[in-house]
Amino acid sequence: MSEYKKPLPQVEPYSQAFWDATKQNKLLIQVCGECDSRIFFPRKQCPECWSEKLDWIEATGKANIYAFSVTYEGVEAAFRDDLPIVLAWVDLPEGIRMQTNIIDCDPDDIEIGQSVEVIFKRATDEITLPFFRPAS
Ligand code: ZN
Repeated sequence: MSEYKKPLPQVEPYSQAFWDATKQNKLLIQVCGECDSRIFFPRKQCPECWSEKLDWIEATGKANIYAFSVTYEGVEAAFRDDLPIVLAWVDLPEGIRMQTNIIDCDPDDIEIGQSVEVIFKRATDEITLPFFRPAS
């Protein structure tokens, strides 16, 4: 496998469980133990009530496209092979709106409301990244 040259997330103690799970093709969402808020991206404290009593649930991996845009040019060199790039906000049934890329698709076929599903791509030994693709 060639060396991964794009930016990578920095794993923090409070996000370690999330990145451990993506390596096993699982998408985790934080849940506040005090106010039951669903939280993404992983944080140290609940953004609603500041509790540090946070737990994890496994997402189904299903989502629907809330909004998207397609980029055809003008990206950093590391991303040129990915063009055209579909950047989207997707709504998860767990109550999360997540920013992601829709991959493995023809951008002309992407629609708001479309069903998508999570797919995992290994970047390095430490990091496997979640993306979404049209649901099969
Ligand atoms: Zn809370």
